Amino acid sequence: PLRKKPSPEELIKGVSEGDRKTLSQAITLIESNAPRDFDKAQRVLQALLPRTGKALRIGISGVPGAGKSTFIESFGQMLCHQGYKVAVLAVDPTSSITGGSILGDKTRMQMLSREPNCFIRPSPAKGTLGGVARKSRETMLLCEAAGCDVILVETVGVGQSEITVRSMVDFFMLVVLTGAGDDLQGIKKGIMEVADAIVVNKADGDNLPKAIVTQGEYERMIEFIRPATEGWKTHAYRCSALTKEGLLELWAVMRKFEKVTKECGSFDRRRKSQTISWVNSMIDEHLHNLFFEDPMIKGRLPAVMEAAVNGVVSPSQAVTELINAFDIDRASM
Ligand code: GDP
Repeated sequence: PLRKKPSPEELIKGVSEGDRKTLSQAITLIESNAPRDFDKAQRVLQALLPRTGKALRIGISGVPGAGKSTFIESFGQMLCHQGYKVAVLAVDPTSSITGGSILGDKTRMQMLSREPNCFIRPSPAKGTLGGVARKSRETMLLCEAAGCDVILVETVGVGQSEITVRSMVDFFMLVVLTGAGDDLQGIKKGIMEVADAIVVNKADGDNLPKAIVTQGEYERMIEFIRPATEGWKTHAYRCSALTKEGLLELWAVMRKFEKVTKECGSFDRRRKSQTISWVNSMIDEHLHNLFFEDPMIKGRLPAVMEAAVNGVVSPSQAVTELINAFDIDRASM
């Protein structure tokens, strides 16, 4: 049977009431690439904006196999049992290539998906990382409007996706594995610089002694790295997502982070600067699209590019010509 799509008013009401099905529908609208859905989605978001911003936003990254989804399943369940409403989102850059999502899918978090207090949403499937990020940010806001207290954003340690997730969360943790000293060299220094916690997972059974050693090694490495968040000292911790050991302690660390950074003001400053970069990056993307979709540019680009490639005009001259053509085309619109 053909079901009528909910109106913006119905979506606003349902999300405000914390209705999970309506929340899903609102996210689908946000994720839609159809131009006609854009205004509708923005109306919903605008109306819900006053209800957003109150959750603690936590980013979780790490190489495949580090135990992120097991961690999220255990950690999320623990939070739900404490009475928190939890949302699990994923930012997956590979999904734009494969068309599918390797992160945050329900089959990997079966226990958690049955929790009434938990809402799991896989990565938006299509688009550039920029597009995926925009959708994930807006999805995060919708989840907050629906009453979520904690947002867990999962990503893989691939390319720019970690930096993108860092730019949308308050607390960013890196899940790592035990390993010999030289394995640690493989961890990019850049990613340690943006982490508020480094968590050695699988600290259980025979692996526990190694985990303790690894934790110490990370702790020493962090000494030489500037902290990710003003007013907060990054440390290495260990846990077992399997036995759930260390999870309660990690939650305490996050709550302390929230308290300390709110008191010193860096929490609010980061949120504000995140919004500024978000607006700026959307302007970039919008202008980029305007330019490359402009009929005049589409017509002239191949020839001008060819001239640049063959050394007939300098690259700067090529750009100047195209920008001028773009300006004239826009002026005549
Ligand atoms: P992801 O790719 O980072 O999401 O990793 P998964 O959560 O899928 O975990 C990869 C494998 O490690 C799975 O077989 C898990 O059962 C296992 N695993 C995850 N966490 C732990 C842990 O704390 N202890 C042990 N022993 N195994 C774990």
